[in-house]
Amino acid sequence: MKHVIAGNIKILYNNAGKSSVDLFANACTKSIPVIYETWGLKAPANCKVYIMTSWQSYLFQTLSWAEKFFLVVVLPISLPQVYMKMSKSWRLFSGWTVPSRPNCWIKTLALVNMSSHELRDKVHIQETDPDNIVRLAICHELTHAFSVHLKLPLWLSEGIAMYTTDKFAGKITVKAESLKYLEPNPHKNRSTNYTKLTTGDDDRIAYNYARGYWLTRYLEHNFPGFIRGLLVKRQSKRKIEQQLSLKTGIPVKDFWNEIDKKIVAQFAL
Ligand SMILES: [Zn+2]
Repeated sequence: MKHVIAGNIKILYNNAGKSSVDLFANACTKSIPVIYETWGLKAPANCKVYIMTSWQSYLFQTLSWAEKFFLVVVLPISLPQVYMKMSKSWRLFSGWTVPSRPNCWIKTLALVNMSSHELRDKVHIQETDPDNIVRLAICHELTHAFSVHLKLPLWLSEGIAMYTTDKFAGKITVKAESLKYLEPNPHKNRSTNYTKLTTGDDDRIAYNYARGYWLTRYLEHNFPGFIRGLLVKRQSKRKIEQQLSLKTGIPVKDFWNEIDKKIVAQFAL
């Protein structure tokens, strides 16, 4: 694959045009200081961004070795599961970061335009400049890549990624209406158990994005620097919840039920 370097991020591509490569390089370069200034997170060594120009490149670059093995060795059994997982991700998302290393795969604008906008429209304010959808996806995924070593709980991982894109864009990118996902929500009581974003229907995914974003924004608004402190070293989910409880004054056992009321009271129109 060809590559360019932006900051200390390696951008890899095969068939992307110059305008796409420039857009990716500019967005990567601009994201690095935004992520650092917001959270104190630096670009890790070996950070790579792949420009996805086709579903074929996605298929072969995003499958784990285990999935490749299943695909080849036990094809008839594994294909439906792998196919369903991948076609769903492909339909809904503009980019991905693997959970184990700082590598991101992000679609070009042409591919974003072919994707479903339904999930994005549930949560995000519509972008007037289509290139911004790609730029914001790059900043979002890089925030995941810069924090991948921390193994964060889902709400915090998505929350900081979405909050950083607000900083990157210099404006709010999330609809105030998405507060409706917080309460009441049938997915709510299981929220702390979720480890995967893609499980469940679009409303559950939208709920996870809204839960992460609004809690992050609430904490940044009321306790600036608190989240930055959580990101200094890897901590267990339980440890993070204990600190949330101490900071907000809500007992751990009531936290996930009580916090949404406070968030809605603060931000609802
Ligand atoms: Zn994300």
